[in-house]
Amino acid sequence: MARYTGASCRMCRRENLKLFLKGDRCYSDKCSYERRAYAPGQHGQSRFRKVSDYAIQLREKQKVKRMYGMLEGQFRKYFQMADMSKGVTGENLLVFLERRLDNTLYRLGFASSRTQGRQIVKHNHILINGKRVNIPSFLVSAGDVISLKESSRKNAAIQENLELVARRPMPSWLELDKDNFQGTVKGKPEREEITMPIQEQLIVELYSK
Ligand code: SF4
Repeated sequence: MARYTGASCRMCRRENLKLFLKGDRCYSDKCSYERRAYAPGQHGQSRFRKVSDYAIQLREKQKVKRMYGMLEGQFRKYFQMADMSKGVTGENLLVFLERRLDNTLYRLGFASSRTQGRQIVKHNHILINGKRVNIPSFLVSAGDVISLKESSRKNAAIQENLELVARRPMPSWLELDKDNFQGTVKGKPEREEITMPIQEQLIVELYSK
């Protein structure tokens, strides 16, 4: 699966928001956004720019897409799934993105970022309900038990992430059993618990044009 391989920190600066794409670095004073909170490029520090409605909608979509590490085609598929589901399309979209396995590992604290979550899944460290799953886009459901393979429990990076798990709030739809290296999906992700500033309605408006 294709993925973005450019500089992650440029994306935070472009979206004018910390997207937490680089794990521990994002919590340190090495964070590029903390040091240069303006858009990258020659005109990044220009003050007066007229911004159209379309540009605002586009930026919102780019922000969420980048936050979850998606490319355009994948992101649009989630939008289509959200649009076909019952309920509010924008909220459905965020719930689908939250249910991805790479994101779930990040939320549980096994991974320090969604990118690392994707890597952990692809390297065959994860079992769901006792069966190996190596697809980062796998959608978890209520009742699923996500665990680390016995042989992966000594992985230093994962152990370190679990030590630091308290620095991020655990969403109520997940439960972590740190001692047994496993997490349980207790229900559906709730919109209120996605605390990053996202205006999903703007994405719906963009794709509905
Ligand atoms: Fe964004 Fe993290 Fe880079 Fe800071 S360190 S700019 S939060 S990716």
